[in-house]
Amino acid sequence: MMDGASGRRRRNKKGAPKKASPKAAAHKRRVEVAGTITVANLAHGMSVKASQVIKKLISMGQLATINDELDLEAAQLVAEEFDFEVIDAAFQEDEHLIDVEDNDEDLQPRPAVVTIMGHVDHGKTSLLDAIRSANVAAREAGGITQHISAYQIENKGELITFIDTPGHAAFTAMRARGAQVTDIVVLVVAADDGVMPQTIEVINHAKAADVAMIVALNKIDKPQADPNRVKQQLMEHGLVPEEYGGDTMFVETSATQGLGVDDLLDAILLVAEVEEYGANPERHGEGTVIEGRLERGKGPVATVLVQHGTLKRGDVVVAGTTWGRVRALTDHLGKAIKEAGPSTPVEIMGLDAVPNAGDNLVVVASDKDAKSLVENRAEMERQASLVGPRSVTLEDLLARTQEGERVTLNLIIKADVNGSLEAIRGALEQIKVEGADVRILHSGVGAVTESDVTLAHTNTGVIMGFNVRPDAKARRTADGYGVEVRTYSVIYEALEDVEKGLRGLLAPETKEVVHGSAELRQVFQVPKVGSIAGCMVIDGKIARSHEIRLLRDGKIIWTGRLGSLRRFKDDVREVSSGYECGMNLDGFNDIKTGDVIEAFNMVEVERS
Ligand code: GDP
Repeated sequence: MMDGASGRRRRNKKGAPKKASPKAAAHKRRVEVAGTITVANLAHGMSVKASQVIKKLISMGQLATINDELDLEAAQLVAEEFDFEVIDAAFQEDEHLIDVEDNDEDLQPRPAVVTIMGHVDHGKTSLLDAIRSANVAAREAGGITQHISAYQIENKGELITFIDTPGHAAFTAMRARGAQVTDIVVLVVAADDGVMPQTIEVINHAKAADVAMIVALNKIDKPQADPNRVKQQLMEHGLVPEEYGGDTMFVETSATQGLGVDDLLDAILLVAEVEEYGANPERHGEGTVIEGRLERGKGPVATVLVQHGTLKRGDVVVAGTTWGRVRALTDHLGKAIKEAGPSTPVEIMGLDAVPNAGDNLVVVASDKDAKSLVENRAEMERQASLVGPRSVTLEDLLARTQEGERVTLNLIIKADVNGSLEAIRGALEQIKVEGADVRILHSGVGAVTESDVTLAHTNTGVIMGFNVRPDAKARRTADGYGVEVRTYSVIYEALEDVEKGLRGLLAPETKEVVHGSAELRQVFQVPKVGSIAGCMVIDGKIARSHEIRLLRDGKIIWTGRLGSLRRFKDDVREVSSGYECGMNLDGFNDIKTGDVIEAFNMVEVERS
């Protein structure tokens, strides 16, 4: 569903920085905090010594140094102790965005936006091709020559917009950025193959995104095709065909023979009719970047899906941390146009850099607003990357001390196209190794450059290139610094490497191995030595080299080493089960009959 709420810009949007303190007590002195503040600056702002602030933090359970960054909340807690009030001086994005509210009566019908997804080889590409070649407009334009990530077709006088994303990784990546571009997901399932892992993933993603789903049972021409079996399988995942009383439309198709394509388009229009997709075209344009790339002679080019309002040539736009005046607008057939309304995919030129897939693109009132927005966002990104895991909040500090140190693998990722970049980022986020994190310092489209290498060097990071290689200069610098540049053409190989890297980086996990235990049967006092435990080893063995602990009523009383281990008068290295022995616990004499002595060691194990 095109998210209606995102079209409305409310004054106090969720996610906008909160005012720091609701009760602005008049007598309190103030200190300004923009996002985060260092301990030093906070102290300076309150005219106290940094050591006083650090002391206060310690009393609150937080170890901090003078250069540590405190977030708004932490700063507030500390400031209160000094009778100061924290003022949130954070940049207010809303002040630079055009204020607008789309009322229901302003909404006009707009074409449905459709994404085709499914398991690999089930026929997504073939189906998109079949749909496109059935489309008159595309044929008239002499066919599609280059890869297009979004286009429109006409069916029975109605337009349908298709987003051609490289699989659902991009779909998830966009969603992760809060962008939802799709109204309807067409789930392609090969009728001869049935439900596969990625089929289930798509179902889950579509459900999570709350978008309508239509199932295309493809490859129906194949003799092995068994649509009924596939229907049964899909029902187990909650997709019940209409004929069985459910509400999911199933269409049988053969992409290669062009069968059922019309039925599929009809089904899409039917869903669109029911859902009544609407948008207000009479306001400033807003949309989502589907793909960004650098084109020779054109500069940064972005494929954008307009979702609200109308985007016009000459508009000043901001997309993520890029901005510019729209120099040229092109439709999906490569034709120059002057403006584009809701659900229209367009290519725009004029941005100062390549935006990311999933970036929100919005028209702003002036160059000045655009620059302020972009500068602030870039600054926030920079701070986030600088502060990184060192950023200290009271909450995460507690969590961190309880969890122990985490290990971070810093990565720089370069790829040939934005689509694969998003896919890789999405997949990397799925990697979970206990006690370790992947941190993407930077990612971008293009060759590995010298600046990537410098960044990797200063942050002890690794560079990964997908279908791109370092240029000569970058290679030399990398060699000089000893920075690792790895190049790949297959994503899963890279993911495997990352996983291995995480395990390798980790300090090995340790596990306790108990070697044996003994019962303390008698206590002897020996002058100058102390207490000697007369024991019977009842399990395993006990050796001088082991770590030892003393248990009383199942509780650990003491942990340490043996001072001596003897059988009769002789010092021995170890004593096995069934034998008596005398032990002295190094530096510990408070032993009692009935205590249990356990021998153990911590051993390193590979992480799973
Ligand atoms: P994708 O990975 O989902 O994009 O799948 P493709 O569109 O690349 O198709 C994978 C293979 O299945 C190709 O060899 C296609 O020619 C074939 N294929 C796709 N649709 C059909 C169909 O309806 N019938 C038959 N027989 N083969 C198909």
